[in-house]
Amino acid sequence: PALQRLVVVSNRLPVALKREEDGWKLKQGSGGLVTAMAPVLRNRGGMWIGWSGAAEPEEGAGGGTVGGTDMETLFADFTEEAGYELCTVPLTEEEVDGYYYGFSNEIVWPLFHDLQSRCRFHPRYWRTYLDVNFKFAEVVARRSSPEDYIWIQDYHLMHQAFFLKSMGVRRNTGFFLHIPFPPPDIFMKLPWRAKLIQALTEFDLVGFQTVQDRRNFVGSLHRLMPEARVEGRGAVVTVHMGNRSFRAGAFPISIDYTQFSEMAARPEVVQKTVDLKEALRHRKIILGVDRLDYTKGIPERIRSIQTLLRRYPDLQGTVNFIQIAVPSREEVGEYKELRTEIERLVGRVNGEFSFPGWVPVHYHYRSLPHDDLVAYYAAADVGLVTPLRDGMNLVAKEYCACNNKGDGVLVLSEFAGAAAQLQRHAYLVNPYDVEGIAKALHRALHWPLEERKAHMSRLREQIRRNNIFRWVDSFLRAGIAKSLED
Ligand code: UDP
Repeated sequence: PALQRLVVVSNRLPVALKREEDGWKLKQGSGGLVTAMAPVLRNRGGMWIGWSGAAEPEEGAGGGTVGGTDMETLFADFTEEAGYELCTVPLTEEEVDGYYYGFSNEIVWPLFHDLQSRCRFHPRYWRTYLDVNFKFAEVVARRSSPEDYIWIQDYHLMHQAFFLKSMGVRRNTGFFLHIPFPPPDIFMKLPWRAKLIQALTEFDLVGFQTVQDRRNFVGSLHRLMPEARVEGRGAVVTVHMGNRSFRAGAFPISIDYTQFSEMAARPEVVQKTVDLKEALRHRKIILGVDRLDYTKGIPERIRSIQTLLRRYPDLQGTVNFIQIAVPSREEVGEYKELRTEIERLVGRVNGEFSFPGWVPVHYHYRSLPHDDLVAYYAAADVGLVTPLRDGMNLVAKEYCACNNKGDGVLVLSEFAGAAAQLQRHAYLVNPYDVEGIAKALHRALHWPLEERKAHMSRLREQIRRNNIFRWVDSFLRAGIAKSLED
């Protein structure tokens, strides 16, 4: 494909402010997405457009200074080091409230994870979402040119192509949805369903995590826009809408496999892994790692540990369950309540079974430094990943990548996007079935070494091949090749 400049647009910019010896600096984040995009952005030349994460006190404030350094300088320094440009979209507190906390996190997030009863369908949220999307689109229009490829990330920005077109701005646009797309019966609950689905049809390429998500999308499209005609049946299909067409496909996101696997092999991380096992007196370790979110099925998971220890009393004193819960959206009431519920459940299970020298559940409510996280992954005998619904779930893939010994077992929710790729070699469970999870854990803990190794090596091979770089490449190929045909 011709070398087009890449413009990535996401809710948040992938950077954080860090204080260094010679003052404040903007540093690139360590997430998988930015790790994979950075080389492409550098090679093609590019720009990342997003919100800084801080609300502006008032309209038009923007810019500003940090510890005496103005933002312009911070951005210029960043571009020099990282090799691509940053561009912020300033948002007021009211905009953040309606668009981010409101529409994105209280409507789209629960609805798209099939949890419609948690939705708050306030019309104000929808209006602010549209206003903010318009604001983003204005920035994209101003800062990009017709030769650029515009790649929009995720559910906060589903109206980008729609508004660009309404301004008469022609761009080649791709959109990737990181979260699931719900089945039509659930999508139809959205008061603004027709407008939202129509906006999605304005992109040139719409990417989903799984083929099932793409089917769900096409199902809703058929109900709301009967003129849509779908051609093809593979991973990527073409949708014809009257005189225009766009493509919709499955592009399962992944991780930087080599980075995780190599990190787990570093001497200081190996030492941490050994220390961790010793501290737990070489008992078996079952590990859960999640943002503290109601989609992750954490309470059900703790109940399954309770059931496991009740059903199989011989396991008492021989196994530990470690749950890492990373603080998330702490200012939202539902997340506070969930935290309280989890802490009560942990207390209840530990109260029921602990004895001197053994506490069954170790619960950490904090984020871990990367090498500690990798040591936990490497130490765990069972990776317990049981979201009620998840777009992909990277923790499942990270656990396998770090399991260099190859003797671990992945117990995985059938409703995680990752199950579509990993189902043949993971132990699949229904995350609502507490007794079923307990049974699966019991079997996982007693699985013969040879079988564990055979399955884990297949899991690792699948993730190694289908890594995050391949994901970026396949999406861009689909998006940019399309524009060359036109
Ligand atoms: N993670 C983190 N800090 C931690 C523990 C985990 O940043 O202390 C990361 C983890 O490595 C993974 C991500 O959080 O990449 C979670 O991604 P996932 O797809 O599993 O779920 P999401 O949080 O995106 O819903």
